[in-house]
This record gives sequence, C-alpha cells and structure tokens, in this order.
Amino acid sequence: MGFPYYIVEQAWERQGGRCAYCGKKLSWDNRGRDDAWGAWEPHHKKPLEYGGTDYLRNCAILCINVDNCHLYCGHGGDFRQRIVLYDDELPYLIVVFQRKLYNKYTRIVIPAKAGI
Ligand SMILES: [Zn+2]
Repeated sequence: MGFPYYIVEQAWERQGGRCAYCGKKLSWDNRGRDDAWGAWEPHHKKPLEYGGTDYLRNCAILCINVDNCHLYCGHGGDFRQRIVLYDDELPYLIVVFQRKLYNKYTRIVIPAKAGI
C-alpha cells in the first residue's frame, strides 16, 4: 500500500513544498533520496495498521535528511508521539496524537517552528 501519485502531489501543494514538521523547504525531485538536499517522504499520519488510509487527509510530507522528521517525528517512539495534521486545521500546525487507555484520544496542537 502506498499513496497514489496525485495524492502526494496534492499534499505537497498543500504544504507549499515544505516539511510538515520543521517547515524546511524540500525538493520535489528528491523524494526518497536521503543523501540529497531537500529529500522527503510522504507519511501516513495515522498508520495503516491503525486503520489509516491512503487519502489526502492522511498524508503529510516530511523531510528525511539532517533533521529527519520522518524518522524522528513520523516513526520515532510510539504512535502516541507521532505527527497528525488534519485537513481542517491550518498548515504547519503540529498535532501530537496521543492515544490513551480505552482508545480515547487527546490532541495537542503546537505551532510549528519559525521561519515558515
Ligand atoms: Zn522536517
């Protein structure tokens, strides 16, 4: 499973070609090329194993070099600490999706870093 090309394009446009977490400018041509400037990957905000989809609302573009937001913010730790961005929220707001007992969720919205 993976995002269709047009979904990735739409997510890219929504974020203005910047990382959803750190706001760094990315290079469209450097998807998956982690040794290249502006490298990035599309990320499933809600993991597939938790019922996430390949739709736009579940897609966030994250950088994969230097800061590596995809690794540290997308897949670091456990699901409780991962990034979630919702379509109905402003771009570049970071939502930490905290899973609590009995499948109740608490969302914490933190303004993204400066320079965006
Ligand atoms: Zn980043």
